[in-house]
Amino acid sequence: MNTILYASPLVPVEWLAAHGVRPIWWRACDPRRIDAADCDVDRRGEPGSLLRGRRGVCPLAAAVVDSAARASASAVVLTTTCDQMRYAASWLQYQRRLPTFLMNVPSTWETETARSLYLAELERLSRLLVALGGTRPSNEALAEVMRDFDGARARLLGIRDRLLGRDLAAALITVRETAAPNEWPSVADSVPSSDCRPHHDLRQGGPLRLAMVGGPLSESDYGLFDWIEQAGGRIVLDATEWGERTLPRVFSAESTRRDPLSELADAYFGTIPDVFRRPNHMLYEYLSRELSARHVHGLILRRYLWCDLWHAEVAVLKACSPVPVLDLDASDSEASSSERTRGRIEAFLEMLP
Ligand code: SF4
Repeated sequence: MNTILYASPLVPVEWLAAHGVRPIWWRACDPRRIDAADCDVDRRGEPGSLLRGRRGVCPLAAAVVDSAARASASAVVLTTTCDQMRYAASWLQYQRRLPTFLMNVPSTWETETARSLYLAELERLSRLLVALGGTRPSNEALAEVMRDFDGARARLLGIRDRLLGRDLAAALITVRETAAPNEWPSVADSVPSSDCRPHHDLRQGGPLRLAMVGGPLSESDYGLFDWIEQAGGRIVLDATEWGERTLPRVFSAESTRRDPLSELADAYFGTIPDVFRRPNHMLYEYLSRELSARHVHGLILRRYLWCDLWHAEVAVLKACSPVPVLDLDASDSEASSSERTRGRIEAFLEMLP
């Protein structure tokens, strides 16, 4: 089966799977998938590196290039949701190591024209998938795949409060690849103690309830969840780029039966509150609703230093948030930033009321 590497929540996994290809979510510097030494060398841009010449790029976009260039996938699908990803796509196209599909996703989303453009891009993607050996799905086949993934997401969200932060983050990526049951950790394996259960009363010494928003967290970032738990906190809302904030809404059964592709477009393009959307009031409506519903004590904004999109939201987030905000910037030098990051998390939790 052909595998398609992708890394944007705006690319519907159902559309890929319904064509009979295997969707693989890109995971940064995952030692199981790429050679870690290669990754380190390329990040430094040393002479001799196949991928040198991209200093100043956000580490995420750079790492996408690292792993995509070495992947055994049939193609990679990226989106135009930020300049850095556009850069990554053009670099991969320049290298010609594997077919790179750059999907145009309009920033504006409130007009019929923008929605039509998104639908047209799904059709263009379909033609690539067919050219790679996939099969254009019938409406019935697409609807069935949509129901499978909808069910998988519902099952995962049903147990989210009982999973450790790192286990939930990993499962939220897995559910972007497969709807197969039992692909994420069992609740029994994940919950460490009754102290971390939801709705634990803070006055009884329970963990501080925190939300995290911002750019993507790769597997190498999951230590953040551990540090937060060790410092007496618990992430009750993972609203980072690859967290639950960017899952599509639940599909309408009636619309899925009548016109599944249109419903797919509405559930992804029409509702995902991503940071690049213009206007971006959906993001703030989402946070306002979820911070309140989950009784959050503090909000951590985790962003890459080179990410203009999240940098631009720092002041607004601080002004709008009903709870204290920690602006946690991260460079691509984990060794030098990890202790600093840990210290800032501990200090933030100490000052929370
Ligand atoms: S972290 Fe920011 S700059 Fe980097 S790829 Fe994501 S949106 Fe783009």
